[in-house]
Amino acid sequence: MSERQRLVILGGGFAGVNVAKQVLKMGRGNEEVMLISANEYHTFTPWLYEIAAESADEHERGEKRMMAKSADIPLKIIDERIKVRLGVVTGLEIDHKQVVLADGHTVHYDVLVIALGSETAYFGIPGLRENSLALKSTYEAVAIRQKLAVLVERVKRGDAATINIVLGGAGPSGVELAAELATMAQGLVRRGVIGRNSLKITLVDGAERVLNMMAPKVSRKAEHRLRVLGIEVVLGARINEVRSGEVLVKDGAGMKALPSDCTIWMGGVQPTSTLKSFGLPKDQRGRLLVDDKFEVQGSDSIFALGDAAVYVDEVTKQSLPQTAQAAENAAPFVARNVLLALRRRQLKPYKFVKKWPYSIAIGGSFGILGYGNLTLGGWVGYVIRRLADLRYFFRLLPFAVAVKFWWRGVLEYRKND
Ligand SMILES: Cc1cc2nc3c(=O)[nH]c(=O)nc-3n(C[C@H](O)[C@H](O)[C@H](O)COP(=O)(O)OP(=O)(O)OC[C@H]3O[C@@H](n4cnc5c(N)ncnc54)[C@H](O)[C@@H]3O)c2cc1C
Repeated sequence: MSERQRLVILGGGFAGVNVAKQVLKMGRGNEEVMLISANEYHTFTPWLYEIAAESADEHERGEKRMMAKSADIPLKIIDERIKVRLGVVTGLEIDHKQVVLADGHTVHYDVLVIALGSETAYFGIPGLRENSLALKSTYEAVAIRQKLAVLVERVKRGDAATINIVLGGAGPSGVELAAELATMAQGLVRRGVIGRNSLKITLVDGAERVLNMMAPKVSRKAEHRLRVLGIEVVLGARINEVRSGEVLVKDGAGMKALPSDCTIWMGGVQPTSTLKSFGLPKDQRGRLLVDDKFEVQGSDSIFALGDAAVYVDEVTKQSLPQTAQAAENAAPFVARNVLLALRRRQLKPYKFVKKWPYSIAIGGSFGILGYGNLTLGGWVGYVIRRLADLRYFFRLLPFAVAVKFWWRGVLEYRKND
């Protein structure tokens, strides 16, 4: 390999930072690793619901301010050997092996990894984008928290009797957020900030069960827990339109309007729109098609992974899930192939993982842990979930930084429960 070949990674999310870390771990020390990211943080999305649902009580605002940043890991502390280039990617000139940035600069690469992630998908539902909040970033988590604080204040002052929150999408993040908001509401009632029936949460999904992609047993446990927390679960109902103050849902019985002071949309993601301009093969949803080496089909030395890409296993015809876990799992394989590509050696195929362990936090210290048909609910599930977070930080950060970051999160988020 010639000296200082340059690997350029687009995106500082789960996929991007983990490939960078692994390349440095497995490489010979003469690879240049540049990471181009629109922001200077790697957002640990599994903690976003905690920020969105931090107690919407005015008195606690000051003390909780630091929490707003608690899910953002500064890219510069991950590994000082990673050259972080802040910038928004707007294009790709494949023939010249260069990336185009919004500021007009271009960046040359020898090998490229595309890990630009996804954005909220609104599926053309009228009024949804304009009249709802989403949860893909710390900024959006804080926006939800602030909106709820204003609504709580109104009830406290006697300007409104109730707060109606409608959440669209009962996938893992929708379930986690709904449950955490319910726990937050219980805290407000306990402290006498609002009355017992002042805050109502409705979780809507077009599927017949919550966590539709998981085993039916998990869905049943989760739905039971949500109802215990006082959440109204509306299933088999599609959001048809969102207006200011109401959400129109359609089920077998027809259309009905749900009053909503705060509509939160957690119903789906699509690959980041930047990919549209890249002259690379994509599936119907706009995700980059990668082969079993994680190379974009038909390309040379361009890899893609995470939410921006789709890998379909030849044998099972299953695709990798769009999760942080799947991105983290693929990262060492991609890193190995990146190093082989830099050395002009033959790439290795990925070994498809059929079953993934998962854990979902459902309000307070309750979690569901699952692997295939095995499930475990309760505080053990919650504790294991927190330990899985710690494991992730250990992989990414220096030991002391990992412990500090995790412990700060645990202490802060305990106050939510
Ligand atoms: C609220 C929430 C909770 C979640 N909880 C879990 C969980 O508990 N477990 C789990 O496994 N998964 C979870 N996920 C899913 C997980 O976050 C994603 O699957 C994961 O982030 C995908 O990683 P990625 O690197 O592909 O994309 P991302 O992590 O989204 O990273 C993409 C990066 O690219 C940057 N970027 C995008 N466009 C540009 C551009 N044009 N120029 C420069 N930079 C750009 C973005 O700013 C971002 O930093 C959750 C998601 C959400 C929203």
